Amino acid sequence: MAGLPTICQLPEIYSCVEYRVNQYSGRDDTIGFHVGSAVAPHGYIWIFPKGNSEANVGIALIRAGAGTAASPKTYLDAFMRDYLPDARIVRTVAGGIPIDGGLKQFVKGNVTLIGDAAHHANPFSGGGIMNSMEDADLYVQTLLRLINEGKTHKCHVYEQIYTKKYGWILKWQRRAQKLFYSLRDDEIDRLFASVNAAFGTADQFNEMKFYRACFLAFLKILPPVVKRNIQSRRQS
Ligand SMILES: Cc1cc2nc3c(=O)[nH]c(=O)nc-3n(C[C@H](O)[C@H](O)[C@H](O)COP(=O)(O)OP(=O)(O)OC[C@H]3O[C@@H](n4cnc5c(N)ncnc54)[C@H](O)[C@@H]3O)c2cc1C
Repeated sequence: MAGLPTICQLPEIYSCVEYRVNQYSGRDDTIGFHVGSAVAPHGYIWIFPKGNSEANVGIALIRAGAGTAASPKTYLDAFMRDYLPDARIVRTVAGGIPIDGGLKQFVKGNVTLIGDAAHHANPFSGGGIMNSMEDADLYVQTLLRLINEGKTHKCHVYEQIYTKKYGWILKWQRRAQKLFYSLRDDEIDRLFASVNAAFGTADQFNEMKFYRACFLAFLKILPPVVKRNIQSRRQS
């Protein structure tokens, strides 16, 4: 309505469905992510336990084009049947998350878009709750400064301020997304086998060690993936 170009193409959106389930019998202290072409091609399934035998089980899929693949709900239902047959669905939510790495323009006149409206969710994970809150916080700080300085006509500076602080992160997360979804199933298996090997049990978890293990595992499988991606880009 403000004349800002906010339209997102289908391959730039995670199509999501999430079930709230009860009678969940998995561990309460462990979240689960499932990837691979059989369970969630170009996407992933998550399990977030909520305590009291409840959990959120959801799927996020990048759909290349309308009608080219089964719907996220079809994959999620198959997963529920195969892995959580006893869980009972009590609520369903669905929605899309823009994952194009952010709008170029998100301020126009006295209209400023933040959060999902500005496409500021993490393009890799689709996580946008924290991003939206940080966006709001930074915008309020900027606005207060502009009010104090009597410069409220200069809201457009927020674009530069946001992009300087978060733009590069979104860009790298988008690159990581594209690279990750170009992996074959056997490469994903090798990646996680290396990461798992770097850890004994969950109580030995150390965030920096985890990132280091992921990075090293990624380096190991990277050369053939890069070669394949270059070849397919040349062919297309
Ligand atoms: C199924 C699903 C699961 C997800 N799970 C996670 C997760 O686990 N972790 C995570 O980080 N992210 C998750 N996300 C993404 C996350 O929900 C969004 O990135 C985040 O909510 C964006 O926050 P927002 O405030 O920008 O927008 P929203 O949360 O969409 O809030 C916008 C609000 O504006 C209201 N609104 C719209 N139009 C008008 C209007 N004209 N007038 C008044 N009000 C209006 C809407 O009703 C809504 O309440 C998930 C998304 C989906 C679809």
